[in-house]
Amino acid sequence: MEAMRRFINQLRAKSPWLLHFDCGSCNGCDIEILACLTPVYDVERFGIIHVGNPFHADLLLTSGTVNHRNKKVLANLYSQMPSPKIVVAIGACGLSGGIFREAYNVVGGIDKIIPVDVYVPGCPPKPEAIIDGVVLGLGKLQASQERSRERKEA
Ligand code: SF4
Repeated sequence: MEAMRRFINQLRAKSPWLLHFDCGSCNGCDIEILACLTPVYDVERFGIIHVGNPFHADLLLTSGTVNHRNKKVLANLYSQMPSPKIVVAIGACGLSGGIFREAYNVVGGIDKIIPVDVYVPGCPPKPEAIIDGVVLGLGKLQASQERSRERKEA
């Protein structure tokens, strides 16, 4: 059973499924994220597949400012993802609230609601920077799987 779990975790790290959620803002970051999925940048070369169901996702890619309206949706999506999971926050709005951070309905960055593993700054960041962030996140996903395996063996 343990060998099977280890095998499945290896497959998850080699072929991660990615969920994308945009909290809002100007959508500039959203457009750059979608560009990563096109054949020009070809994020699928890392085995990544874009999915719409949080129950199937290993990585959550988030952009935009968190506000009082979307914070519950963000928390809900995160809680529905299986562990271990990785969150990559994209752009100044996702990191801190960006230029909207002092607006009346703004909570702030993604990490005000859920834990963030990788921060990709920029307004908006280039697709290359987003891909770097995702690859960094994959390394953290693999390390987290290793840690949970070692804890079980100890
Ligand atoms: S960081 Fe800049 S480009 Fe990205 S959503 Fe915010 S304002 Fe738009």
